[in-house]
Amino acid sequence: MSEPQEPPVFYAGRPVPADPAPGTVIHRWTDNRPNLTVATTLPCHETQEVTVLNRAVGVVVICRLCSSTYRLTVVDDLDGGFTAELTVSAERFQLSRAARRRST
Ligand SMILES: [Zn+2]
Repeated sequence: MSEPQEPPVFYAGRPVPADPAPGTVIHRWTDNRPNLTVATTLPCHETQEVTVLNRAVGVVVICRLCSSTYRLTVVDDLDGGFTAELTVSAERFQLSRAARRRST
């Protein structure tokens, strides 16, 4: 009988919680890049930049540093810019580190 809760939304430029719950939506500003792409930074690690098509919808983005996972959708601001909407995902992907041990 409880109403479904709207996921919290954090707008661009606002502080983001350190460990946002899955479903949290975080808006980020983007920079326009060549070939219809935009670049944005990840909320968990601002040094981690991702570049996606400016029509990206639900693209899986994984932080290389902490493996936080997001679904990234790019929204046209209709003023020549784009906002990245990152939804915190409960999915966890293991990044493989190409450091496979060879048995010789
Ligand atoms: Zn991170």
